[in-house]
Amino acid sequence: MDFEFSPEEQAFAEKVERWLVENHDPVVMDPTRENFTQLVDTPERRAFMKKLAAQGWLGMSWPKEYGGQEIEGVYEFILNEALARHAAPQIGKGVGIIGKTLIRHGSEKLKREFLPKILNAEVEFAVGYSEPQAGSDAANMQLRAEKVDGGWKLNGQKIWTTSAHFADWYWFGARTDPDKSKHDGISLFLLPMNAPGLEVQSMPTIGKDTTNQVFFTDVFVPDDYLVGERGRGFQYISEALDLERFTMFTLSPIEERTKLLCEYVRSAQRDGEPLRCDPLVRQQIAQLVTSTEVAHCLSIRFVCAAKGGGKPPTTDSAQYKLFATQLSQRACDVALDVIGVAGQIKVDTEDAPLAGRFEGAYRCTVVETIGGGSSEIQKNIIARRKLGLPKNF
Ligand SMILES: Cc1cc2nc3c(=O)[nH]c(=O)nc-3n(C[C@H](O)[C@H](O)[C@H](O)COP(=O)(O)OP(=O)(O)OC[C@H]3O[C@@H](n4cnc5c(N)ncnc54)[C@H](O)[C@@H]3O)c2cc1C
Repeated sequence: MDFEFSPEEQAFAEKVERWLVENHDPVVMDPTRENFTQLVDTPERRAFMKKLAAQGWLGMSWPKEYGGQEIEGVYEFILNEALARHAAPQIGKGVGIIGKTLIRHGSEKLKREFLPKILNAEVEFAVGYSEPQAGSDAANMQLRAEKVDGGWKLNGQKIWTTSAHFADWYWFGARTDPDKSKHDGISLFLLPMNAPGLEVQSMPTIGKDTTNQVFFTDVFVPDDYLVGERGRGFQYISEALDLERFTMFTLSPIEERTKLLCEYVRSAQRDGEPLRCDPLVRQQIAQLVTSTEVAHCLSIRFVCAAKGGGKPPTTDSAQYKLFATQLSQRACDVALDVIGVAGQIKVDTEDAPLAGRFEGAYRCTVVETIGGGSSEIQKNIIARRKLGLPKNF
């Protein structure tokens, strides 16, 4: 396997880098939001995505008949990692999850309605799978979709829906067939966030940003907004989660933070001695840099496996997500050890070492190991699907 980019891919990476430098805007690009930088949640961030769309960089891997360029997903990988490195909003949900799932399973009507809007950065989505009793066990979702004339009537609740407080459309699973087995009774829907009967309540996270609870009271969804076939929702959600584990958990912020820590160690002192001379610090930094390289290889492996636009590889994305998000946490942990007590001064405090970056990042990285399926769930996927170990014990 070749881990280097081809000359064409390298040229694209350089072009994107130049464009991001030219379009740098501190209002849009705030690295202290950590993984939440991917959200397109303000007018300025929406305007930025429109500029990105105008470059023709959204949906590059999509089929030409849906406005894409049919080029390898590695170009989207390069773009998304560069956006994340600059703390800019990312192509995540629209292009990476909803667009790709609609192309595979959506009706012509849904494709015609949503794909052009995604390519033009005109629509933002929230994704609702989790419920109070259905997180890791997403197939246990209980949001009830009852068949009525011309559509569905929904009652119940979602929780942890990031983006629900600003998104235009809701992409969510609901139980349409309670008499069937739990995996076969779920269907996938699209709904405008301003639909009557839908109520969003925001909740703070341990990081800087918020997520939401969403309540449904007699919400009506027309038949046309059922995605794919009734009862196949869990299959589509599982595929979409494979994409999410890869698209939403970018590596470059971890690489950037590791670089930041290395620079700090080069120049900082502790008890009058240069940190760079401390053998333990040197070992910790060397280990971190090596692990970051491993994560990079896992991500490239995933990109290569996904070549040709086939079904997303489940175990590759689980391995990448598990390793990268745990590394992200470990890196912050090491940084706080290396910096010492002052490392705990709150992010954005002027005289904090590295502006408190690792204090804030430490809190945010906890979330990364939970969203998109917790680390334990990734291990279960690897154990079952890669190693063929039994499902339950
Ligand atoms: C900030 C944030 C944003 C999120 N955004 C979204 C979103 O936009 N949309 C959405 O749908 N969801 C979202 N989530 C939900 C996320 O996917 C769930 O929190 C996650 O799947 C875990 O579910 P849970 O919180 O119900 O925990 P539980 O499933 O109750 O798990 C609790 C603990 O038990 C462990 N565990 C559970 N089952 C097993 C098992 N079979 N084997 C071993 N260990 C197990 C878990 O690893 C975890 O440590 C978000 C979560 C957070 C924290």
